[in-house]
Amino acid sequence: MDLKQFITIVEDWPKPGIKFKDITTLMDNGPAYKYATDQIVEYASKRQIDLVVGPEARGFIIGCPVAYSLGVGFAPVRKEGKLPRETIKVQYGLEYGKDVLTIHKDAIKPGQRVLITDDLLATGGTIDATIKLVEGLGGVVAGIAFLIELSYLDGRNKLDGYDILTLMKY
Ligand code: 5GP
Repeated sequence: MDLKQFITIVEDWPKPGIKFKDITTLMDNGPAYKYATDQIVEYASKRQIDLVVGPEARGFIIGCPVAYSLGVGFAPVRKEGKLPRETIKVQYGLEYGKDVLTIHKDAIKPGQRVLITDDLLATGGTIDATIKLVEGLGGVVAGIAFLIELSYLDGRNKLDGYDILTLMKY
């Protein structure tokens, strides 16, 4: 299936010059959402995954159906102040300023093999921070899966050495 036909490109959003890749038109199409999920499940099923981890909010949309299908758990990575119990945190750079991502301290057991999921790889900052959280708790990043990779932003370089799947490239 050609998944790109389900992505809507929104010009000048959220600001002038950006061509935003809207994945909601893939998600709201049952066969397309299932096909994309199944591709990631197939990739994950060869990598002995114990747990899926994804950053809010679109990482949940990709990761939760994959975790369900694999029969493993899902642990959310969230912005600071959103998780109710003890967390570890990592600060990461945004285009303007900094942000903080957190995960519950007991979400991952040392040695667990983790699949990280998100909708889109741009500069790699979000996933680099997510990797630091997973590894900070002793998890092993056994794979990273995205729907979309913006190749021209070279995020893959930042994730050098990791096993990456992307279903669509721009
Ligand atoms: P990065 O940290 O790799 O620079 O940016 C990736 C993050 O920004 C992802 O969590 C993704 O949800 C969001 N993002 C950036 N650009 C887009 C876009 O064009 N479409 C979508 N759906 N998400 C984007």
